[in-house]
Amino acid sequence: MKKLIVVLFLSLIYHPVFSWGFFAHKKINYYAVFLLPPEMMVLYKPNIDFISEHSVDPDKRRYVNPAEGPRHYLDIDHYGSYPFPELPRRWKDAVNKFSEDSLQQYGIVPWWVETMQQRLVLAFKEKNHSKILKLSADLGHYIADAHVPLHASSNHNGQLTNQQGIHGFWESRIPELLADKEWDFFIGKAKFIEQTQDFIWRTILESAALADSVLQIEKNLNQNFPSDKKYAFEERNGTITRQYSSHYAMAYDQKLNHMIERRMRESIFAVASFWFTAWVNAGQPDLKSLTNKSFTENDLKEFEILNHAWKNKSIMGRVE
Ligand SMILES: [Zn+2]
Repeated sequence: MKKLIVVLFLSLIYHPVFSWGFFAHKKINYYAVFLLPPEMMVLYKPNIDFISEHSVDPDKRRYVNPAEGPRHYLDIDHYGSYPFPELPRRWKDAVNKFSEDSLQQYGIVPWWVETMQQRLVLAFKEKNHSKILKLSADLGHYIADAHVPLHASSNHNGQLTNQQGIHGFWESRIPELLADKEWDFFIGKAKFIEQTQDFIWRTILESAALADSVLQIEKNLNQNFPSDKKYAFEERNGTITRQYSSHYAMAYDQKLNHMIERRMRESIFAVASFWFTAWVNAGQPDLKSLTNKSFTENDLKEFEILNHAWKNKSIMGRVE
């Protein structure tokens, strides 16, 4: 009986997911830990479950804080054409040119990554255990989002080209089908990044350049694929839902020539390298002797609020 109740409960709280999907975000933060040097591993490895589970806090925050949404994307095509010289890369210059309101409207992910990176450097300098963990988990999320092509396009869910659903198809459905079974996440070591700002802008430009292929390839596939085989009804956490069929997903992944696996690997490498760079820039503090080892009342309260809002409220800002 107890088991039944648990199962029922789980199926009630099932929720759609956003941005790399919860599955992929958790994997990205998880695998990033293994790229770190031993001096960092002493902290990250014992806390790998926290780093992985809390990789999705920023998405949950979209249910409580209206300012959260724009931190996950940049509709860079709003600012002209590739490589978008009209858009100043420095925040102050961009605000002067376009106003903060307008920047917020089209997304701010590369600037937000920089803000989070600076906060993480400070947390390392303070040797604050809980802040380092929370900020590392959050930063990993935003860096991973910057790697998703549709997070750098105003046609972010194919809504302008009658391809609604492609967002979750690319970043949730396909990784869930293939990541554990077929993809390789052996990546090597984190590297020190001289200019984190340049790095994240390069990432956004790569994403923007890939967005066209993500959309165009699905459009072509859709035209040449038997329409009755495109979707399938599958059970997911006790609920029957209509999904892109696994045949369609495989065909799309093949036509993308492993782009999703590649972007996921690049996300993992970038996340680990940003963490490593923050630690180096903070003077490589000894992570065996940190303060604030337990989360504050406020931290715990925040985790609870995030979970509650995500399960019970609707998302603020745009839905993917
Ligand atoms: Zn996100």
